[in-house]
Amino acid sequence: MSAALRVGGLTPLTSLDYPDHLACVVFTQGCPLRCGYCHNPHLLDQQAAAEAPSWNQVLDFLQRRQQLLEAVVFSGGEPTQQAALVDAVAQVRALGFQVALHTAGLYPQRLSILLPHLSWVGLDIKATPERYPIICGRPRVAAQVVNSLEQLLIWERPFEVRLTLHPKDYTLAQVGDLLDWLSHYPIPHLVLQIARGGSCLRPEYQQITTPFSTAELNQLIQDSAHHWPRLSLRT
Ligand code: SF4
Repeated sequence: MSAALRVGGLTPLTSLDYPDHLACVVFTQGCPLRCGYCHNPHLLDQQAAAEAPSWNQVLDFLQRRQQLLEAVVFSGGEPTQQAALVDAVAQVRALGFQVALHTAGLYPQRLSILLPHLSWVGLDIKATPERYPIICGRPRVAAQVVNSLEQLLIWERPFEVRLTLHPKDYTLAQVGDLLDWLSHYPIPHLVLQIARGGSCLRPEYQQITTPFSTAELNQLIQDSAHHWPRLSLRT
């Protein structure tokens, strides 16, 4: 028997994680990246905490929510790291739910198996290829992310690309460089997310001493409007 999905947590109700849908969020355990601003350090290790729900407990929960929720969002951690996600998505679909996915795009082969069964994807792009190792603490992952993006660009369902920006990682000029690089791809919906301080993975990210100014970010969005008519800011 194949291993069950390792679950790190469950949020029973959200309308934000799959925009405009009533959903729950299943947080999967394990992520190969080490972003300094990560707010889910407890999900990075492969081993789930003893108090985390099992996949069978999640399925029991979903059976009790069949007429109440529209969708299940898999988030992480990095959900596509686990081979068990493929079966988990099929089980959720069999219960009548739509399935949405948050991913950093690190496992494009698994993504290609999953895409026909998903309704929506939020793809996190962390940096231009040369800055991936600086921001995520892992070399040689950018090519996989670009492969995932290219799959989404020919997928015929809605998705968004999110850029999570922490002032420790980015100057405004570097945000501009990232937008310039991405302008080579016809991404329909791009969102700038400003990373929070607080309980981040790396202590130097916890205190934000030089926050982005909303006025400057809005100016950047305005200046990029010719490339990015659907660029928005999520704070
Ligand atoms: S923020 Fe980075 S390290 Fe944290 S779960 Fe997401 S991809 Fe992994």
